[in-house]
Amino acid sequence: MKFVDEYRDGDVAQLLARLIRQEAKPDRNYRLMEFCGGHTHAIFRFGIVDLMPDNVRFIHGPGCPVCVLPAGRIEAAIKLVEENDVILCTYADLMRVPAGKRDSLQKAKARGGDIRMVYSATDALAIAQANREKQVVFFAIGFETTTPPTAAVLKIANAMQLTNFSVFCNHVETPPAMMHILSAGEAKIDGILGPSHVSTIIGSQAYADCCDKYRVPLVIAGFEPLDVIQSVLMLVRQINAGEASVENQYTRAVSKGGNKKAQSLMAEVFEQRPLFEWRGLGVLPESAVQIRSEFADFDAEKRFGMQAIATADIKGCICPAVLRGMNNPDECKLFGTACTPEDPKGACMVSSEGACAAYYSYGRYRAAESKA
Ligand code: SF4
Repeated sequence: MKFVDEYRDGDVAQLLARLIRQEAKPDRNYRLMEFCGGHTHAIFRFGIVDLMPDNVRFIHGPGCPVCVLPAGRIEAAIKLVEENDVILCTYADLMRVPAGKRDSLQKAKARGGDIRMVYSATDALAIAQANREKQVVFFAIGFETTTPPTAAVLKIANAMQLTNFSVFCNHVETPPAMMHILSAGEAKIDGILGPSHVSTIIGSQAYADCCDKYRVPLVIAGFEPLDVIQSVLMLVRQINAGEASVENQYTRAVSKGGNKKAQSLMAEVFEQRPLFEWRGLGVLPESAVQIRSEFADFDAEKRFGMQAIATADIKGCICPAVLRGMNNPDECKLFGTACTPEDPKGACMVSSEGACAAYYSYGRYRAAESKA
C-alpha cells in the first residue's frame, strides 16, 4: 500500500523503539500527553504502548471534538429540534453522546425529531437547498481542522442568500486548551505529542507560546505508527537535553505558518468567543469561535434564541478527568461493564477518537493481562 507501508515498517519501528529504550534515563519518568484522540487510537491499535519502556507513559488529552463538547450543548440542540420545526444535521458520533437525563440526539430522533446524519457541512447545505420550506441547522463541532469547511459553507450560504440555513457553532481552538491543561498542572506533563491535522491549519508556530511559557517540549506527530514512535524519540531527546521547543515530525503536511488560505477564511467568518464551556476543562476564555456579526443571519444561536443549558454528566462517568489527563479510562468503574461502545455512558466511549473507545477496542485485554 504505497504511502502507508513506509510508515508501518516493523523493523524500523523496532529500531526506533530500541533507541527510545536506550536513551530514556532509567531514573526519570517521561509522561507524554497525546493531545489528539487520533494518536490515542494509533498508540493502542499498533501496539506502540507495548514498545515503550515502563518509564515512558502516555497520558490521553482532550483532543477529541465529540468528547470535549459538554452535554448542555447537546441538550440545547435537542431542545431546538423539539421546540422548532427544524432539520438538524449532525455527525454520526454526536447522535449517540449521552445528554442530560440519559437523553441523546438519537433518542430525540426516535421521538420524531428530524435529525439527520451528515458527513460534512456541505451535506447540510445540500439538505437546506433541497428543503427550502424548512429551517436547516448544521450542528458544527471540531477543532481548527473542521472550522474552515464550516466557514466556506457559511460564505456560500451568504452568497446564495439561503434564508433557511444556519449553523450551531461549537468550533474550539487547540492552543488555549493546551495552555489551560499546562497551567492547571494536574496531569504533570513532560512532553506533548502535538496534533497533526489541526497543525496543518494553524502551523507549528502556533504552539511556541505553550512551550516557552510552560517549558514543555512539543513534537507535532503524524498518525502512522512510525510517526508516533519517532516523535516519542524526539521528545525523549528534548527532555534529556532540558529543552522545550516545538519540533515538527510531520513535515510532509505541516509547515511553520500553516494554511494561510484556511486561516483567512476562518478569520473572515469567525471571531473569538469570549467564553466557552468544554467538557472536563470548564469554561475557558477565548478558546472557541463564534460567527461574526456580518454572518449573524446564519447563526442558529441568534436565529432561534438558543440558550446554554446546565447539565450534569452521568453519575460515575469520569470523562472530565480522562480529558484532563488525570485518569485512564480503565480506572472508571463503569468501563467495559455498564459503559461499552454499544451502550456508552459518556462521550469518551462514543467517539471514534475517544480515549475510552480506544482502550475498549484495543487495550482492554492488555489491561486485563497486566492485572493478572
Ligand atoms: S468508561 Fe464510560 S463512563 Fe467511564 S469515563 Fe469512559 S465514557 Fe465515561
